[in-house]
Amino acid sequence: MQAQGEAAPTQSPSNVAQGTAAHAKGCSVAALGRPVRTHGALFPTQGTSAGIQRTVAQIFLSVIPAQLWLLLNPVAVIEFPGNFHPTHQPSVRTTCHLMILPKTNRLTTDQLAEITRIVEEFGCRIQPIVGAVRTIYAIVGDERDELMINRLEGLSYIDRVDKIQSPHKLMDRRSDLATHRIAIGGITLGENLLVIAGQCTIDPKNPQLFYETAQAVKEAGAHVLRGGVWKPRTNPYSFQGDAKSLEILLEAQRRTGLPVDAEVMDEQQLKLALDAGVNMLQVGARNALNYSLLSAIGRAVADRDTVVLLKRSLHMGPVNELISAAEYIVSFGNPNIILCPRGTAPTLDGYRNHPDESITPLLKEKTWAPVVVDPSHSVGKAAYVTACALAAVAYNADGLCIEAHVSPSHGIGDDPKQALTPAALAETIRQAKQIWTLMHFAKA
Ligand code: PEP
Ligand code: MN
Repeated sequence: MQAQGEAAPTQSPSNVAQGTAAHAKGCSVAALGRPVRTHGALFPTQGTSAGIQRTVAQIFLSVIPAQLWLLLNPVAVIEFPGNFHPTHQPSVRTTCHLMILPKTNRLTTDQLAEITRIVEEFGCRIQPIVGAVRTIYAIVGDERDELMINRLEGLSYIDRVDKIQSPHKLMDRRSDLATHRIAIGGITLGENLLVIAGQCTIDPKNPQLFYETAQAVKEAGAHVLRGGVWKPRTNPYSFQGDAKSLEILLEAQRRTGLPVDAEVMDEQQLKLALDAGVNMLQVGARNALNYSLLSAIGRAVADRDTVVLLKRSLHMGPVNELISAAEYIVSFGNPNIILCPRGTAPTLDGYRNHPDESITPLLKEKTWAPVVVDPSHSVGKAAYVTACALAAVAYNADGLCIEAHVSPSHGIGDDPKQALTPAALAETIRQAKQIWTLMHFAKA
């Protein structure tokens, strides 16, 4: 249920398939050819181009010299080649491939016939990739059936069956979802800089402060209002947040017309937030590796316009970990996902975390998802936030999530130390927009 009166996300509602059944089979919604909701239209997972759908595997394989496969062998996960032509974008349905690696350099005619018979039973076919020394055998088709893999691996002459796929086939830059645009607060990500701002924590004893903050961040130029309702606190005796703050957040949404963002840490909070009309769900750094929560969120937002802001965990290493966490959510059918670097551990001496806005170009190389950087938790001190925010925009971030408070010293949670005043926020947004313009003008 959307709350009334807010500047809600603009995606049209649609008959989005629930992903549960797909997940039961280990497949994504899109992988099953069901609709995935996108900005303004259903995404044609099945019929982008029937020809491409049928032949994309051949195209994919043909652009990679067989020798390369063999050089890379053994390979558990192989990325797409960097020069993959955009007009040959693989559909999400065909980005997953398996490679059969025989124990010998190549299979005999009879052995090839046997594995061909097996995979054909599962609607697949074999694509031999002939190298100078060895031949390996790609399975082409919807090849994720465990039984098929087990039968192949049970053959005495087969060494193993390797997965060669994008580790995040929906989030992959070359997936069909790459054309998806996320819109919230009157901003289409990628077209204009998105600013999410507001208090770290709503103080349920002082709702007025939050209403003032809400109005002030709106006037400073924010497009989405953030407000912590439930808080992940290191110390169990610190204020943990309060469900009562949800009403305050929604009242601020009504008063300002801004869509609102709040973190949820469990399924009960998730339900309360969605039922209340929270527009953007935040997955915090501590829960970005909580795969059952990620799945629960994916399931819960599958048929909604909700946007999910997924923070980078403190302990995530390679950017693929963050992208794969996003894949959990998106695979249920709602592709409104934003990736949020927010600093990692160990800390950089003097900063709260190790600022990681510099991973933005890496993320953008691998995924189509917009990147909104949180400079507040990266550096952890108001005096450093603006510099970090500007650096993020220079690194090509699509937006910023900044803690701001009408009177930081009266705040709770992180606000006294890291919230910007409305004036500092306005100045940060002004400068960030200048860099944004420079970046985008330079690209044109
Ligand atoms: C927050 O946004 O207030 C917060 C707790 O963030 P993080 O999960 O990045 O620590
Ligand atoms: Mn905070």
